[in-house]
Amino acid sequence: MPQFSDVALPVPLDMVFTYAIPEGMEPVVGGRVLVPFRQQRMSGIVVELHDRPPHENASHIRIKRVLEALDLAPALDEHLLKLGRWIADYYLAPVGEVFRTMLPLSAEFKRAVTYRITDEGRMALHLAGMSGSPARSKRTPDEQLIEFRVLDYLAERESVREESLRRAARVGKALLGGMVRKKWVTREDVSAARHSARLVRVAMLIRAEERAEASPPPDGPDTRHHLNVAPAGVVPKKLNDNQRALIDTLAAAGGRVPVDALRHLEVPHSTLGTLVRRGLVGLLDEPQDFTASKLTPRQSPFDFEFSAAQKEALRKIGAAVAARKFGGLLLHGITGSGKTAVYLACMRQVLDEGRSSILLVPEIGLTPAVAADLHQVFGDEVAILHSGLSNAERAEQWHRIRRGEARVVAGTRSAVFAPVRDLALIIVDEEQDSSYKQEETPRYHARDVAVMRAKMADAVVVLGSATPSLESYYNARKSKYALIELPDRVEKRPLPEVEIVDMRSEFQETGEEQVVSRKLAAEIRERLEKKEQVMVLLNRRGYSPVVLCRACGKTLQCENCAVSMTHHKREHKMECHYCGYVAPIPEKCAHCGSEYVYFVGTGSEKLEELLHGMFPQARIGRLDRDTVRGREDFEHALNALNEGRLDLLVGTQMIAKGHDIHGVTLVGVIGADMALGLPDFRAAERTFQLLTQVAGRAGRGNSPGKVILQTYFQDHYAVQFAAQHDFAGFYEKELQFRAWMHYPPYSAIANVLLRSEKLEEALTWSGELGRWFEKTRHEGIRVLGPAAAPITRLKRDYRYHFILKSPSREKMNALLRAMLAEAAARKIPRTQVIVDVDAVWLM
Ligand SMILES: [Zn+2]
Ligand SMILES: [Zn+2]
Repeated sequence: MPQFSDVALPVPLDMVFTYAIPEGMEPVVGGRVLVPFRQQRMSGIVVELHDRPPHENASHIRIKRVLEALDLAPALDEHLLKLGRWIADYYLAPVGEVFRTMLPLSAEFKRAVTYRITDEGRMALHLAGMSGSPARSKRTPDEQLIEFRVLDYLAERESVREESLRRAARVGKALLGGMVRKKWVTREDVSAARHSARLVRVAMLIRAEERAEASPPPDGPDTRHHLNVAPAGVVPKKLNDNQRALIDTLAAAGGRVPVDALRHLEVPHSTLGTLVRRGLVGLLDEPQDFTASKLTPRQSPFDFEFSAAQKEALRKIGAAVAARKFGGLLLHGITGSGKTAVYLACMRQVLDEGRSSILLVPEIGLTPAVAADLHQVFGDEVAILHSGLSNAERAEQWHRIRRGEARVVAGTRSAVFAPVRDLALIIVDEEQDSSYKQEETPRYHARDVAVMRAKMADAVVVLGSATPSLESYYNARKSKYALIELPDRVEKRPLPEVEIVDMRSEFQETGEEQVVSRKLAAEIRERLEKKEQVMVLLNRRGYSPVVLCRACGKTLQCENCAVSMTHHKREHKMECHYCGYVAPIPEKCAHCGSEYVYFVGTGSEKLEELLHGMFPQARIGRLDRDTVRGREDFEHALNALNEGRLDLLVGTQMIAKGHDIHGVTLVGVIGADMALGLPDFRAAERTFQLLTQVAGRAGRGNSPGKVILQTYFQDHYAVQFAAQHDFAGFYEKELQFRAWMHYPPYSAIANVLLRSEKLEEALTWSGELGRWFEKTRHEGIRVLGPAAAPITRLKRDYRYHFILKSPSREKMNALLRAMLAEAAARKIPRTQVIVDVDAVWLM
């Protein structure tokens, strides 16, 4: 066994740490180990085992030792380790933090505080024993007695948990603190490897060859506890009827059945015990499986005939998978063209060949229909990873995938790291969605990681969308990806007719600011009379987004952020949508004391109230983050719409996502252009995508659909092309702008943000780095800034940023790396320098 182990730890430092491997311990590369780090114990990933002693010239420093090897087999296999290293390199993220993100097993660690005796403590205890009385101290004898009781107790033991120590030595926290300061004992904040996942006891059939070898537990980081496996070599004698029934049941179920499920067999409980003793059956504790979606069952997604275009798409993807080498495909299918059915059919094919696939979706909690389809098509072979899972549930799913029980994985962003075996296919649905970009370290983009993972695994990646990102469509045009088009809706249903309502003339004609235009109101009324359904999108939650003082003109801002607080009427509060800060509703202006405070603007809560007033008979529901706390609320609202228990659904972009509600014939969009005012080069692209997506909710059933777009910028090309369903037109126009401004896909970009709670620090740091950028030669790289970020203060931090643009990604990353070294040399904490490669938000 090598002597040393390099361990990647989840700390914001761009390095790995070397630990000595104690005699008899066998850590594995890719496995987790528990190691001491500063005042804590931490679990990290072994990245290398070797015999090179660290710091040759500092050999007097005692190298710390690995405390525990947590896995018998790698938790991250070779491919995933390589992928993690690539992410660390590409996104300039600490590799230990990347691995932590890739491995959702935090639930297996329980925090605990433990104490252990030091050499000084032993010496004090020794001296006390020699002199017959405790060492001199200002403390009272009582306290001394307790201290020596503690030392006595610890001297006999490795390390003791705080609760046990306090009970056993009858000692208080304050006294322990004093002993820590005297260096008699050390206190450690331990992350102990303990399974907190709900476990289920499972009976497992032991096959003859396994009995013979008395083999260790099978694959995977060994999280199954072998509770009671009888010694090997026991020759099975004849079985009685009860025993035979139990063995047959196990065999029929693939060799593994929860003990609870065996109860219905009506054999005495002792039968199982007998079989365990005879070595025919083993018992183990396994994480409980995930419960299936409660969405009302729908028609099977395969009930309809595939169109010629769908069949062609399926054939092309199938051929790419069969080639067993990397292939990238862009599936551009208009809304309602049946992309999901193609995905499921491809994944079914892959599963039939015994291989694995991963489906990434932006927010599966918000697309329960997809989850229901997956369960229907794949049954127990699918693992669904979504944001609603607890850490323990996430860990359970990880183990199921790892064991090969679930070979179809569907989930949000981090599902791209699912430990599937023999990966054949990754599908990224709605590949343009910004939720694929993680907005904290490591700031990876799951779509781009999916492409890289497929490359490394000789697998196929399919990027699907009705509105592909400029980057992906550009890559397809350049033949980096094969382009597959689904140009028609299923069953030749027409795309909805889109009508633009110019809100400026609406204002001139009616003489007042309207939220719902006369045209939209009339159309809604008509649908309600025909018993058809309506969706109205307003992509802003809350009641009013701004509170304005008429006397001094100031608005109510968040304490922690430079943004307006939003009025929430039903919950009777003001809330910051960026940091969650809540304040009471103001009765007068905080700046000048004037009572003339006004609530300005409309959010989805107010829109719902307005529509109730306009259509008192209509049954109206609302979907936004205030009404949807969990997946169940969401399913509840969608089921209500699906089953005709709602006439009208109001909501934020949540209602725009992939829902397939056949009764909706009208979609209204209030403030179609809200995002166009943002200082972000993707504003037009986002607006076009959102409008296209929400328009796609109309007319998915037998009646044709209609869309009303209300806008103040009716001439903007994003609005115009969305109204004409003209993706190619939008794409050409937007591409010209990107080329002209040196934005992606023509340049790689990165956002470098300096943040601090102290304005002065943020200013100093950005100034220092600004001067460094100026004097550093960096040919072909544009550095803009330092400038105040569009949101100058966020979550208490003042923010200054630089934007880097470069046609060469390598050069840009080299400069960023040098910049980080410079920042470290200037003692700017790594956590306060945010490097966001391929930034999606520049706010
Ligand atoms: Zn005021
Ligand atoms: Zn805030």
